[in-house]
Amino acid sequence: MEQYQLYIGGQWVEAQSGERSESINPYTNEAWASVPVGAEADIDLAVQAARRAFDEGPWSKMSNSERGRLLIRLAHLIENNIERLAQIETRDNGKLIRETTAHLKSLVDYYIYFGGMADKIHGDVIPLNKTSVLNYTLREPIGVVGAITPWNSPLLLTTWKAAPALAAGNVMVIKPSSTTPCSILEFAKLVEEAGFPPGVFNVVTGPGSRIGNYLVQHPGVDKISFTGGTDTGRSLASLAGKHIKRITLELGGKSPNIVFEDANLDNAVMGVMAGIYAACGQTCSAGSRLLLQRSIYDEFLNKLAERSRQIKLGDPSDWHTEVGPLANRSQLEKVAYYVDIAKQEGAEVLLGGKRPEAAELQQGLFYEPTILTNVTNDMRVAREEIFGPVLSVIPFETEDEAIRIANDSDFGLVAGVWTNHISRGHRMAHAIRSGTVWVNTFRNANYASPFGGYKASGYGRENGLEVLKDYTQVKSVWVETEEKMRDPFVVG
Ligand code: NAD
Repeated sequence: MEQYQLYIGGQWVEAQSGERSESINPYTNEAWASVPVGAEADIDLAVQAARRAFDEGPWSKMSNSERGRLLIRLAHLIENNIERLAQIETRDNGKLIRETTAHLKSLVDYYIYFGGMADKIHGDVIPLNKTSVLNYTLREPIGVVGAITPWNSPLLLTTWKAAPALAAGNVMVIKPSSTTPCSILEFAKLVEEAGFPPGVFNVVTGPGSRIGNYLVQHPGVDKISFTGGTDTGRSLASLAGKHIKRITLELGGKSPNIVFEDANLDNAVMGVMAGIYAACGQTCSAGSRLLLQRSIYDEFLNKLAERSRQIKLGDPSDWHTEVGPLANRSQLEKVAYYVDIAKQEGAEVLLGGKRPEAAELQQGLFYEPTILTNVTNDMRVAREEIFGPVLSVIPFETEDEAIRIANDSDFGLVAGVWTNHISRGHRMAHAIRSGTVWVNTFRNANYASPFGGYKASGYGRENGLEVLKDYTQVKSVWVETEEKMRDPFVVG
């Protein structure tokens, strides 16, 4: 069994308690790695190390371009380790090797993009009506950033935080999900090899309810960046509020994928499948509500069901597998629970709705690709995030009705629109209340384009230039250039 340690202050260490837990491979359902169970004392050490690196240097004393060079060196190390890291992440969370490999390739671009950004973050000179005063702004790092990340895409979602935060001069204490801690610990070895000074990048594994909470309240932490469920996000936001601490929240979704009668239906079928079956539906940007125009309802569903029926479930490390297992047992139970609720509420199962029967799939945590029809937007399957391969189909008649249903949700993370009329595409993009709208595509993300939620899907942005606002603070500097100070009591 693989043995991991915590990475604190540039050292590989055991948890202070000496406690360990096992990480389970969801395909074999067997433990494959042993990981320390960190507690408050370990977070204290990590925060102290991070504070030292930030308050005393060397990190804060390094030039911007030196910091950028380290990020770019890290990018090249990732590039040389794509296959190995992708295999570890697939083993740890069951995500398809083709998906983890694609993520790893994209990480190289993230670190190069933000590495290149490190020496381009600057303030402004502000023209005031008093010409003797020079007023300028400094865009400074916030300090120690606590990053709390989920299990569905550990390396990608940690990178969305670490690359911009480090580029802007912050230091990190990372708390990965306790069910998928291994790929980040493996990644930290590359951070060490790249030559980042001790304390700049720390990883402490352990239960979120204990150390995640503790990290948010820690007086040595200046900012929290959280990706995870909306309920957890809500409670962390209130803790952060209590301590007047900045927080970025990337939360859940119940996103509409809207297909109009004028769309290229074959393309839309591909987009709808990518939206709900990618990562076995365990993605914040799943297109889990299919809004389908009534005039193409039967034709579209026939095409979708036909292709969905052929989906190849299996070993996530096999390049031919199309849908892998769910990442953990409670996730599997949650999916089955929601399908039962949907049936009780009157939905019909067009496809799936159960665990697969094939003998070779019994050991893994598999659930069949599932399409539910007869769904109305007030049912729980249309309102709550399932985080599994379950598509709820809701018909609509007109564009206005599609907009109303799409926006009738607590969430607002992403939306897809399928139409061959560019004017309709733009109208919909303006009308939908979500942080991302995709027209004739779905589930695209890029280091250069901002990503984040409206409504209960969170606040703050990741990626692009926009994210730098979340990892910097602005100082306004006033310099009087007049040599003689005016008497403050002279009138006029
Ligand atoms: P989760 O909220 O259970 O856990 C996320 C992280 O928070 C983990 O590290 C966990 O250990 C920690 N945590 C859990 N309870 C905590 C607590 N009380 N205090 C502090 N930390 C705590 O979420 P998950 O099940 O790991 O991930 C799935 C969720 O993440 C889904 O809702 C999904 O939509 C969301 N997500 C959002 C995005 C996005 O960018 N918007 C991306 C991926 C996943």
